[in-house]
Amino acid sequence: MKAKTLSLKFAAGCMLAALWIPPLSHAESDAQKEARMNMVETQIEARGVESPVVLEAMRNAKRHLFIPPPRDREAYQDRPLPIGHGQTISQPYIVALMTELVQPKAEHKVLEIGAGSGYQAAVLAEIVDHVYTVEIVEPLSKWADERLKLAGYENVTVKHADGYHGWEEHAPFDAIVVTAATPHIPPPLIAQLKDGGRMIIPVGSRFRTQQLVLVEKDGDEVTTRNILPVRFVPFTRAEED
Ligand code: SAH
Repeated sequence: MKAKTLSLKFAAGCMLAALWIPPLSHAESDAQKEARMNMVETQIEARGVESPVVLEAMRNAKRHLFIPPPRDREAYQDRPLPIGHGQTISQPYIVALMTELVQPKAEHKVLEIGAGSGYQAAVLAEIVDHVYTVEIVEPLSKWADERLKLAGYENVTVKHADGYHGWEEHAPFDAIVVTAATPHIPPPLIAQLKDGGRMIIPVGSRFRTQQLVLVEKDGDEVTTRNILPVRFVPFTRAEED
């Protein structure tokens, strides 16, 4: 009888442990903050990212808030991490580099394609006036929206859609950041870029080397420049055009 009571208590305890979700708060431990400052110094500044606004944004955006537990403990390590649904949050250095390459400014309106965890949008939102971000996987669009709100960002709008078509309603954009690899640059994104605007986009397929490409629009002229080889999750389509 006693053994039964104990095992019942044990089972109830396990259930509670399984159900208990730690409350999200802005407060963080000294260790988390220290890990983030160290990440900026050793992974980002050391590799040549120089923009003061980007470095400051990387020091402020709490990457651990955007990664589902238990992997949030690895938030400040030098690599991408799984966020569920077969998707990943990019390596911190790549987020910083992409942000620096579009030269974000305080008055800018920026479009992101591939909200994922919400972290890249948070880094941009630290710098610019407003970020519009599109995510094709519905549960991830909800996750990103929730996390961004809970982390206190009021200047980000998340939409569940196929980002191939951009976000016409809010176009044109000063900058566009695409975080999934496309075989070709979607023409609607080029059309929605402001004159003088910049877009950063990984171009290539899943099985071949992808290149991070910087697109610059100057009147009718569009120039592209390969920055470095990268590996991103594929850009998927709701329906083929
Ligand atoms: N910026 C994200 C990176 C997520 S990985 C972050 O900071 O975490 C890339 C994301 O692009 C994935 O979530 C994937 O679902 C999304 N994606 C792929 N194709 C897409 C499309 N056509 N439109 C919108 N999002 C897309």
